[in-house]
Amino acid sequence: MRYQNTYVKLDTRLYHEQQPTPLDNPRAGHFNMQVAEQLGWLDDKDLMARWVEILGGQYVPAQFQPLSMAYAGHQFGQWAGQLGDGRGLLMAQVLGNNDQLQDLHLKGIGLTPYSRMGDGRAVLRSTIREYLCGHALTQLGIPSSNALGFVVSDTKVRRERMEAGAALMRVADSHIRFGHVEWIASFAPDLLGEFTDYMIDTYYPECHDSETPVLAFLQAVVERTARMIADWQLIGFAHGVMNTDNLSITGSTLDFGPFGFMQRFNPAWINNHSDHTGRYAYQNQPAIGHWNLNIWLPHFMRLEGVTRDTLADCLAPYEAIFMQHYQQGLCRKLGLPHAKESLTLAFEWLTLLEDNLLDYTNSFRALLGLVAPNEHPYEQQLLAIMTAEFNNEALNVWQNWSTRYLAALEPLSSETSIDEMRSSNPVYVLRNSMAQRVITAAEQGQFDELNRVFELLATPYRVQDIATDLDTLPPAPHAPQMPISCSS
Ligand code: AMP
Ligand code: MG
Repeated sequence: MRYQNTYVKLDTRLYHEQQPTPLDNPRAGHFNMQVAEQLGWLDDKDLMARWVEILGGQYVPAQFQPLSMAYAGHQFGQWAGQLGDGRGLLMAQVLGNNDQLQDLHLKGIGLTPYSRMGDGRAVLRSTIREYLCGHALTQLGIPSSNALGFVVSDTKVRRERMEAGAALMRVADSHIRFGHVEWIASFAPDLLGEFTDYMIDTYYPECHDSETPVLAFLQAVVERTARMIADWQLIGFAHGVMNTDNLSITGSTLDFGPFGFMQRFNPAWINNHSDHTGRYAYQNQPAIGHWNLNIWLPHFMRLEGVTRDTLADCLAPYEAIFMQHYQQGLCRKLGLPHAKESLTLAFEWLTLLEDNLLDYTNSFRALLGLVAPNEHPYEQQLLAIMTAEFNNEALNVWQNWSTRYLAALEPLSSETSIDEMRSSNPVYVLRNSMAQRVITAAEQGQFDELNRVFELLATPYRVQDIATDLDTLPPAPHAPQMPISCSS
């Protein structure tokens, strides 16, 4: 691997160098060969032979320089003060085979100075959810952290019950959160200039070409955040805990807790059971992204040339960028050009889904069964299941809508439309029920279901033989939601 440990060269107030606390008897959970290949891990015999020991914290290769990072944040809209890596360590930074810097971050590996009341551990259940979600989003084409693999162990961890401790080697382009800057502003303001230079040099080097690199950088963060959240909305992803300590400065999805993928379409859906006010409901995500940026940006007024007005100019395009990306994606999901008439159809379609509590993923995919039935037997089936759920009124709305929709498609190249629809409407997303089946089996030492679901999510836009009906089955309408514990 091409090591490039740069964070450890920053001011020592920003982190604490330390070793992991080993897990007891770590055993292989899963290993992502594709990520290993991208990192160059695959080419190193020692790393390949000893990956379970490394992820279990028992062996630290000489080139690793483990550290826990300090950061702060706003949680559920309130200033939470110092947080930091309470159970994860940045183990090493490497140049991946795309020449981009990648962080190797081991999560669940013991106490750090930032552990507060926590035990520094992660349980198998939440480790599997994080492992599969990073994989699912990455393969769906949404910027996200992913993972090299995870291990399970004999270390006992107390949550609502005793559970098995696990550790995940998370891989992300960065682990710098909005909360890093919030920490600096509160506890070491003299470091802001140096740290901003580091963020620009490392993640936004193109901003150096601007006459005002800091403003160009801030604008770029605004843009990437808006685009990431538009991607979430389009795929039906709810992050669940969009605190400022869980948002990456690279616009890449980070920190998976009580996340979920939309099933029966309800824009007000709250996946996180601890989110009593619905602050992080699916439909609030774009506004919360803006809220987080608005809290974050003013810290940069300490830097020369940054004023309240220039910051307002940075943030102003957020909504337009989000809308552009979201609306374009929505039209693409229907195979239509980005135009006013297409959007009218798209919003009527979303209303139909909402009014009839239709499954978000299956319904979009079912449209291929309408547009090109002969090529899409699976989608034709989805369409039949969908229309079977309609009452008379809904059937009328559907017939009217689908006639106008087909007419809108008529003058277009059907090949292009079908390609767009196939590549933007997944067949498989990580439904909570799917993750739960994997977890139940894994807690009994069975990893076959994990392997199968991992495979399925590797090519989410293609119908696959290894799928079962359960993989695409939404909960019954009005069924109580599966509780997703916030403890992890
Ligand atoms: P999260 O809700 O996972 O984003 O975590 C919020 C903060 O709590 C972060 O600073 C975490 O490092 C810390 N934290 C969460 N769980 C634990 C734990 N079991 N032990 C120590 N720190 C934790
Ligand atoms: Mg977090």
